[in-house]
Amino acid sequence: MVQEIRTVLQESRVDQAVMERYAAEAADIVGEDNVSAGQADLLSSCRDYWPVNSIWMMEGTFPALPQLVVWPESTEEVAALLALANRENIPVTPYGEGSGALGGVVPLNGGVTFDLKRMNKIRSLDEKNLLVTAESGLNGALYEEQLNRSGYTGGHFPQSLRCSTVGGWLSCRAAGQFSTRYGKIEDMAVSLEAVLPDGTVFSGRSVPRTATGPRADHLLLGAEGTLGIITSATLRVWPLPEKRHMATYTFEKLEEGLEAIRLFMRAGTRPAVVRLYDGQETGNHFPELGDKRCALILLIEGSAKIVDAEAEVIADCVRSKGAESAGSEHVEHWLEKRFNIGVASMLLQKGAVLDTIEVTTNWHNAYSTYQAMQEALLGVEGTMLASGHYSHVYPEGAALYMTTVGFPGNDKISYYKKLWEAAMEACHSEGAAFSHHHGVGLHRGLWMAEEHGPGLEVLKRIKAALDPGGIMNPGKLALEEVRSWQK
Ligand SMILES: Cc1cc2nc3c(=O)[nH]c(=O)nc-3n(C[C@H](O)[C@H](O)[C@H](O)COP(=O)(O)OP(=O)(O)OC[C@H]3O[C@@H](n4cnc5c(N)ncnc54)[C@H](O)[C@@H]3O)c2cc1C
Repeated sequence: MVQEIRTVLQESRVDQAVMERYAAEAADIVGEDNVSAGQADLLSSCRDYWPVNSIWMMEGTFPALPQLVVWPESTEEVAALLALANRENIPVTPYGEGSGALGGVVPLNGGVTFDLKRMNKIRSLDEKNLLVTAESGLNGALYEEQLNRSGYTGGHFPQSLRCSTVGGWLSCRAAGQFSTRYGKIEDMAVSLEAVLPDGTVFSGRSVPRTATGPRADHLLLGAEGTLGIITSATLRVWPLPEKRHMATYTFEKLEEGLEAIRLFMRAGTRPAVVRLYDGQETGNHFPELGDKRCALILLIEGSAKIVDAEAEVIADCVRSKGAESAGSEHVEHWLEKRFNIGVASMLLQKGAVLDTIEVTTNWHNAYSTYQAMQEALLGVEGTMLASGHYSHVYPEGAALYMTTVGFPGNDKISYYKKLWEAAMEACHSEGAAFSHHHGVGLHRGLWMAEEHGPGLEVLKRIKAALDPGGIMNPGKLALEEVRSWQK
């Protein structure tokens, strides 16, 4: 039975006759089975993991609906469908697996959603040059499994590995749990193949580096579907590691742990996993360690001799900051549990508002940003918990990941807005950057002007040049004003 659906953020919709004409022509391109205006298909591609979407859905409403979903299977099909939408001025929302955390796939102006999951092949694995070319709709876990079968790893493990795609990673500038050794997605992406709104297909060269002007293909990294559609990418791969070394250390104070990490990064070591938890998160994740000390978990991998040398240098650095060794079993426990994402939905059903906010700090403000954000989050009435850990580290600083849980009663949306306003203000006052890896989507657009200053105008000009009709994922990255979602 088709029910009437209430939407909260729908800014506009395309004339139904135009959509019907588009659907008929789209069916000629991808086949009738790969075009749908069925309610179940519209509902399942209208949202992502942005907590606000879940709050609304618990209340029986939806953010906004597309009017059509298409499932292209090749670059040629994407190009033909996109050129057609551009000609008819129909908004297009690219859709991977919908694991984005900030409303990036919400089709504010209706139109057509391109679900890319049929573009799921590995086109080639070049073992000599350690490069893989994968289509953008390939699921993350399947990508890694296929590489593993040939003796390689992609080195990219976001917590959402099982519910995200290669194209989603590239579009959001994602970072995986092993990022300190293997890099973030932009370090792995050697070249991209993409389609512009007018159907132009272009790609970069898969050589280690070029100096022939700015890389056109790299413009799509982090563009969150606002400039075009990424159809495939050539990424670095690594032989499966010969050796893995795991270690846990605890510190009396979070600042001591941060200082230890700064020292071993400065010394040139690059452990794959570096995660430093505050006392509260140490107690939650590793109850045997209690909540009085801060746990640092480390996983070093690669060639055996290099791993041994790194472990030694790291041990010296952490001990110089008063660390106590706590064995390797906590890292094994973390490895087992690291993709579990069920707690959020459980808490949501109990009336909680839960979110995570990741920001980037340098070393000089790594601890003060944690303090300021924690205080700000706890200062919002209704917040029960605000804890943090550092999970991606660099010689110049670290990503700080705050988790917050509140029980605000009925008006969850205004609580949510207050929470973010407080957190972003604290982040800004400490000089940290507003996002490390979740991206912008719809919600973080509220702070894009503060983050970029005049740079936002540069992004708007690039958008106007590549997408003059403004059809690509309207309202995201703050490239246009969104009336229905304001501070
Ligand atoms: C529980 C959980 C854990 C997470 N953990 C991490 C983590 O560890 N690290 C991390 O970086 N992120 C993490 N995320 C965020 C999210 O998983 C990533 O942003 C992921 O990269 C999104 O991939 P997706 O395929 O689901 O993209 P979607 O959510 O479908 O899309 C995200 C954005 O990219 C656009 N897009 C998607 N595919 C394409 C394409 N082919 N071409 C152009 N635009 C496209 C969409 O329009 C949208 O704007 C997590 C999210 C959740 C819910």
